[in-house]
Amino acid sequence: MTNNRRQFLQLGFLSALSTPFWSAVPRKRKRSTKPLVIATWNNAKACEAAFASLQSGGKALDAVEQGAMVPEADPNDRSVGYGGRPDREGRVTLDSCVMDHRGNCGSVVFLEEIKHAVQVARKVMEETPHVILAGEGAQQFAVEQGFERENLLTEASRKDWQNWLKTSDYKPVINIENHDTIGILAQDTDGDLSGACTTSGAAYKMRGRVGDSPIIGAGLYVDNQVGAAVGTGLGEALLRTVGSYLVVEFMRQGDHPQRACRKAINRVMEHHPDTYLDFQIGLIATDISGRTGAYSIQPGFTYAVMTEDGVETFSAPSALED
Ligand code: ASP
Repeated sequence: MTNNRRQFLQLGFLSALSTPFWSAVPRKRKRSTKPLVIATWNNAKACEAAFASLQSGGKALDAVEQGAMVPEADPNDRSVGYGGRPDREGRVTLDSCVMDHRGNCGSVVFLEEIKHAVQVARKVMEETPHVILAGEGAQQFAVEQGFERENLLTEASRKDWQNWLKTSDYKPVINIENHDTIGILAQDTDGDLSGACTTSGAAYKMRGRVGDSPIIGAGLYVDNQVGAAVGTGLGEALLRTVGSYLVVEFMRQGDHPQRACRKAINRVMEHHPDTYLDFQIGLIATDISGRTGAYSIQPGFTYAVMTEDGVETFSAPSALED
């Protein structure tokens, strides 16, 4: 054995002796079996739909699907599904994903003319050997599964887009052009976690652009042994940092969901030192013991939590206010 190797092994042995095992291995938290739903922005109605599903015996996956379908069908929600703001060519394109307690996931990206992208994402997970279907292929699959094609561009969104064309200045407006995109997490009465994320993406994006929302690890991540996280805001920044996975990894290391979200937001800001003042990212999380947390870069990010005590909307703490 070389001297260096001997020294290395000795050091390893000594440091193992000096590291108490309780600080190296985070304590596993007790799993809650109280139903819980948490969603980005003011998605209280979505929380109620998801919670009703849990109360009637639905699994967490059923709940997040039901919840996500609420803003998808709402023409006044301008960041999701029907009524969502279009890309710069005036076409509404949707991104969505789901992930369940077994680590199964499904996703659709760049999907057109199908209102409930979250349901198609679930079908991808359950009915295909794949995780992601894109564009025309995703639409073809949706139609084969019985979904109807429909025009998702409402008059209000068409008018906004025509106004935008006057300048064609692509600079997503913080807390406005991504407001209401839904990321939703649920814990069911078995204590199992699932999540969903669904969006029409950044308003006036380039044709073909896909954000973080349908990308497992970036927009959403669920680990049934640890917790779940979901994000909203400028997708490119969460893609670069695999933000939702990062939150779950911080929770795995023992962080409270609140601290995990804050640390992940700090990481996003470190990655974007020159630009983070110009965009928003909001993250929400829950761990298996039913603790929740949220954090954002800019003030103005809200989230809704529903338990047996009812639904409540909170303002998330933010890096720029702290
Ligand atoms: N994250 C989404 C995207 O970049 C937008 C949003 O959350 O509002 O596509």
